[in-house]
Amino acid sequence: MKVISLANQKGGVGKTTTAINLGTALAAVGQRVLLVDLDPQGNASTGIGIENSARQKSTYDVLVERLPISAAALPTIVPNLSIVPATSDLSSVDITLSGESNRANRLRDCLRSESGDYDYVLVDCPPALNLLTLNALSAANSVLVPLQCEFFALEGLTQLLSTIKEVRSALNPKLEIEGIVLTMYDRRNNLCHQVAADARQTLGEMVFETVIPRNVRLSEAPSHAMPALLYDETSAGSLAYQRLAAELRSRSAGA
Ligand code: ADP
Ligand code: MG
Repeated sequence: MKVISLANQKGGVGKTTTAINLGTALAAVGQRVLLVDLDPQGNASTGIGIENSARQKSTYDVLVERLPISAAALPTIVPNLSIVPATSDLSSVDITLSGESNRANRLRDCLRSESGDYDYVLVDCPPALNLLTLNALSAANSVLVPLQCEFFALEGLTQLLSTIKEVRSALNPKLEIEGIVLTMYDRRNNLCHQVAADARQTLGEMVFETVIPRNVRLSEAPSHAMPALLYDETSAGSLAYQRLAAELRSRSAGA
C-alpha cells in the first residue's frame, strides 16, 4: 500500500481534481484505490458523488474518534475506488485535538491498521499547512504537489518544501516527494509556458513529464458528480490523468 498526499497550501491549484481523476485512472487499470478527503469543504466527496446525507462516517470520525478506515470508507461509482468522505466538522479538528499528544499522527495510525485492502491511498489536503495537512504528510509515503502554471506558483512551493523538511525531521523521516504535476496548463499562454520552463529548470526530474491541460471537461465533471473518465472518457483532461497514472506507476517501478 502506498499513501500519497496531495498537498499545496494554495487553493484552486488542482489538488482535488487530481485526487479524483488520478484515483480514477489508477482504479481503471485495476489498482485498488482509497481517497481520503481531508478538506472540510468536502469537494472530493461531492465530486465523486457522495451526497452530504450519505456521509454518516467521515474523516472527522477517523481523526477524532479513531474510527477504523474500513468502517468509514464508502464505495463510489468508480469500481475499485472508495472514499472516506469529509464533512464540515473537520474544520474543528485543530481545536478538538489541541493538547492531545500525537495529534499529527492520527491518520497515520489509522492507516497502519489497514490490512492490505488498497494499493494506493490518495489524501486530498485542504489549502493550508494546518493540522489536517500535517496528518496527511505524517501518514504519507510521498507527497504529490499540483502546481498551477501562474506567476507566484514557485514561491508558494518554497514554503511547502520547507514544511516537508520539517515534517521529515519531526514526524516522518521517510517522506518522499512523489513529484510535482503542472496543472491547468495552457500552451497558448506565454506566462504559463514560462512558469513551466522555470519549474523544470529549478526542480528538474521532480516535475512529471505529463502536464494536465486546462480542460473544461475537468471542471464540469464534478458538477455531474463523476470523474472525467466517466463524464467524457476521451476528453483531453481525462486522457492526461490516465497518462499521469501510467507515469506515476512506471516511476515507482523504476525506483
Ligand atoms: P484545489 O483542490 O487545489 O483547491 P481544485 O481541484 O478544486 O483545486 O480546482 C480548482 C478549480 O479549478 C475547480 O473549479 C476545478 O474544477 C478547476 N480545475 C482544476 N483543474 C482544472 C483543469 N485542468 N482544467 C480546467 N479546470 C480545472
Ligand atoms: Mg480541494
